[in-house]
Amino acid sequence: MSKIRSVGILTSGGDAPGMNAAIRAVTRASIFAGFKVYGIYRGYRGLITDEIEEFSTQNVSNIIQRGGTILKTARCKEFQTAEGRQAAYDVLKRHEIDALVVIGGDGSLTGARIFGNEYSFPIVGLPGTIDNDLYGTDSTIGYDTALNTIMECVDKIRDTATSHERLFFIEVMGRDAGFLALNGAIASGAEAAIIPEISTKADQLADLIESGFRKSKNSSIVLVAESPITGGAMGLAERVKNEFPDYDVRVTILGHLQRGGSPTAFDRIIASRMGAAAVDALLDDQRNVMIGIKNDEIVYVPFTKAIKNEKPINHELLSTLRRLSI
Ligand code: ADP
Repeated sequence: MSKIRSVGILTSGGDAPGMNAAIRAVTRASIFAGFKVYGIYRGYRGLITDEIEEFSTQNVSNIIQRGGTILKTARCKEFQTAEGRQAAYDVLKRHEIDALVVIGGDGSLTGARIFGNEYSFPIVGLPGTIDNDLYGTDSTIGYDTALNTIMECVDKIRDTATSHERLFFIEVMGRDAGFLALNGAIASGAEAAIIPEISTKADQLADLIESGFRKSKNSSIVLVAESPITGGAMGLAERVKNEFPDYDVRVTILGHLQRGGSPTAFDRIIASRMGAAAVDALLDDQRNVMIGIKNDEIVYVPFTKAIKNEKPINHELLSTLRRLSI
């Protein structure tokens, strides 16, 4: 039987739509299980500076539909030092919090893994990032909403691209992962996606232009994953200007609007399921695991696996995009 009596929740790193749905789920499932719940504000920084409040079910009323995170988020260099983590541990002891649920991306879960090991402290992670770059889960919380936002933006850009017969490079987030670019391209009927997973193996830009794309089209849209490996949309546009001067190129960087907005039904549902599963994991004495959903089933993924393993791109998607953009 688990000895846990109280749970702290924090969101850390980049915010993602659906984090609020996850906070709500962890809070309510914890209270249902008889735990005390503490909301920790501003991620690891708020843990060190003791920005902590006890939560009741009402603290998480009316938030499932809201983007961002009511707990706020922050980046915290101090947590990367042994002294910072000691200060965090002291605060947890003072509040008699005996387990943590950390909602965040790769960096946040890395911090959770180190802290959990150092203090033998029970931590369960939830994958909260629009990038979908965590191994062991089909989708991360926020990814589906960001994908839908990208699709809506590209639809709008296509109207102007078609009118002017231009080549548009649209840069999307992803932090070295091509999931948003590739699936965003399929969903919006774009001509191509330039993603880091492929850029290391081929010159996608040259392949694209040499394959004669745009010959039969009056506009072309290419989604580019933001990454030093792809060169980003600006880098590619610069190359086109120099190497293929016949093209009239434009660049749009979607930036932070990809992070905002009300979460989709899909993100609300996975956030709710993962949040409830995090409490089950604590009841089951699991620690240092991230909750994932694989083939519609809840799975526990050890932090080391979720963080270290690279999540592969599905090559069937690449082939589909190529075949449908002729
Ligand atoms: P994300 O969780 O979205 O990937 P970051 O990479 O910015 O965001 O990480 C968020 C926070 O997680 C950092 O500001 C830091 O407090 C913590 N963190 C990241 N890496 C480490 C690490 N190696 N050791 C301890 N804490 C870390």
